[in-house]
Amino acid sequence: MSHDLADRLPAPLAGLVPLARNLRWSWHRPARDLFERIDPALWRATRHNPVRLLARLSPERAAELAADGSFLRELEEVAAEQRRYLAAEGSWWSREGAADPALRVAYFSAEFAITECLPISSGGLGVLAGDHLKSASDLGIPLVAVGLFYHEGYFTQEVDAEGRQHDVYVRVEPSELPLMLERDAAGEPLVVTMPMLDRRLHAQVWRADVGRVPLYLLDTDMPQNLPEDRAITNRLYGGDIEHRLRQEIVLGIGGMRALEALGKTPTVVHLNEGHAAFAAVERARQLMGDGVGFREAAERVVGGVVFTTHTPVPAGHDYFSPQLLERHLGGYVWEMHGAWDHFLSLGRRDGAWPDEPFCMTILALRLAARRNGVSRLHGEVSREMWRHLWPGLPTEEVPIGHITNGVHLPTWVSRPMASLYARHLGDAWRDETDEVRWQRAAHIPLEELWEVRRYGRRRLVEEARTRLRRQMERLGEDASWTDTALDPDRLTIVFARRFATYKRAVLLLSRPERLERLLATGKVQFVFAGKAHPKDQPGQDMIQQVAAFALRPEHRDRFVFLEDYDVELARRLVAGADVWLNVPRRPHEASGTSGMKAAANGVLNLSIPDGWWAEAWTDHNACANEPVGWCIQAIPGLGADADDADAEALFRLLENEVLPLFEEVNEEGMPVRWLERVRSAIRQLAPVYSTHRMVREYVEVMYVPAHRESLAVGVATTRAAGGAS
Ligand SMILES: *Cc1c(COP(=O)(O)O)cnc(C)c1O
Repeated sequence: MSHDLADRLPAPLAGLVPLARNLRWSWHRPARDLFERIDPALWRATRHNPVRLLARLSPERAAELAADGSFLRELEEVAAEQRRYLAAEGSWWSREGAADPALRVAYFSAEFAITECLPISSGGLGVLAGDHLKSASDLGIPLVAVGLFYHEGYFTQEVDAEGRQHDVYVRVEPSELPLMLERDAAGEPLVVTMPMLDRRLHAQVWRADVGRVPLYLLDTDMPQNLPEDRAITNRLYGGDIEHRLRQEIVLGIGGMRALEALGKTPTVVHLNEGHAAFAAVERARQLMGDGVGFREAAERVVGGVVFTTHTPVPAGHDYFSPQLLERHLGGYVWEMHGAWDHFLSLGRRDGAWPDEPFCMTILALRLAARRNGVSRLHGEVSREMWRHLWPGLPTEEVPIGHITNGVHLPTWVSRPMASLYARHLGDAWRDETDEVRWQRAAHIPLEELWEVRRYGRRRLVEEARTRLRRQMERLGEDASWTDTALDPDRLTIVFARRFATYKRAVLLLSRPERLERLLATGKVQFVFAGKAHPKDQPGQDMIQQVAAFALRPEHRDRFVFLEDYDVELARRLVAGADVWLNVPRRPHEASGTSGMKAAANGVLNLSIPDGWWAEAWTDHNACANEPVGWCIQAIPGLGADADDADAEALFRLLENEVLPLFEEVNEEGMPVRWLERVRSAIRQLAPVYSTHRMVREYVEVMYVPAHRESLAVGVATTRAAGGAS
């Protein structure tokens, strides 16, 4: 369908097609406004998918727009701006990268969250990857990305009247998405092949343009493949361990081969989490020949590989039995004349027993010379966790550093907040994470800030009512109460994240009488949202507890659970909350990023000092005496166990600090001291916890040194194939 998009539109609208095809609209407001103006209802109905929007546009409406001078002027303005943007002149890298013109980074990840119409993400890891690409594009970094195209994406969540989660899978048609099929010189779909058991597996390659960054998505749903192989890229994190291994072979081995076929061989490979670690093995295979065997090639790739680990929870790492691995990759290793034992040893601690499983994280740690965790605390935890791989080294010298995560501000800052920043910080707030510029936030008038915050809360309440009504109607339940659910003027506390058990969504419910008492004051309301992985029964039980509590008639107007948390709902929640609640069991939260999105929107964080908050709290709070939120710190001796102590600390903060501060208003009803704290949090946190700062750090600390090392050992040459974008 997308191929004839341009033919369907009247000539004056042709400029819409390149705009629709480049995902830059997902963070460029004027382009989104343009699509919305075409047909607001259809824009919403397509989940903000401009390709479907244009494909479904009625000929009458198209003719009307083609004759609408003001629309065409707006179109030309947006299109001209996009051309300037894509030319990359004046970007950060165009200024800073002169010494390393041949740098080419390939960023591998099993998930990417760019926008809601491309549902190939399950949560934080994907959001981070998507934001990484957007900032790399804005900064002009020569980077390409590799992932998988999942036809059924991640699931859509429905919750029944008992609070139970049901997973619904919706198949998306790639031709209806802003994706292009990569083709070979003869115009045929480009096909990548790779080993799979006793046969060859074929994959085609979709390209999504994320501004200046191409994202290549491999897809095995091709007629050349057996039915079971066509289903390899069906769902994100679906299926059993064998399915997982097959997906990881496609991502790593297929991904590297796709880059080679496209003429995009990188000088630096960045593995975002262990899922893609086979990419480093395939890179070694590509270097073999001329007397260079697998062992030597594997040693030589290490300098050009960067690995970011995200998981302090042992169960979060992929382990495969040697038998399963040999069945799938035995032939591949044999073809390389590689010794199977050596290959196996790269993914195992010491092979002390024959069945010791093969760990993708260990493989990545061994094949990457530069390794990092995603917050200061997570760096420490990772060094402790993996120190057994470096016997004899003191823990603090284990070679795993940290680069703290960030968020892509233009994606996550709401429209009214963005206008406020443009007025008081200047338009460049989007492109610069210059802490000096952000000092100007200290002069944002509190009245204007309050106006934006109230608007965001109102929009959140409207969205919640719409979603609750839809849910009640689907369940055949009384929906009348949803019209007055939540109060747009009440202190709004949001807990929205994956329902992994360590995130302890039920901590508030552990003291029901305290919670009921808080709710009975009528001064505070709670909004919950989040999915649990279909195989995570304890996580689903937590959803049921929270969702069932939310449906109780006595407080369903002030404690709600919203279905189907995704990036679209996340944007609404971070713009409308007053308090962002996070209560992980320390130190299980590697970083967390939703609180950063919230902070940039003027929301105050109320969080356990874990992940990013552990450092944000200490760095920005201790000496300045200018609090940026609240830190939930258990008081020794209070509480039966660690969970109970944290719950006690949480309730004390809510009762004694959070609620009273919000209640402290001036004659106009404005909580002045609250807003001062908001302003201070924005000024101190927004420039630091941004992916612009983060990507620059990756470039300086990881990519450039890795690139130079690759050149030095002849793994890459300065005439590295192809341009980056
Ligand atoms: C930002 C975001 C996340 C990550 O949130 P955490 O703070 O890491 O829990 C997960 N899911 C969605 C949809 C998001 O937008």
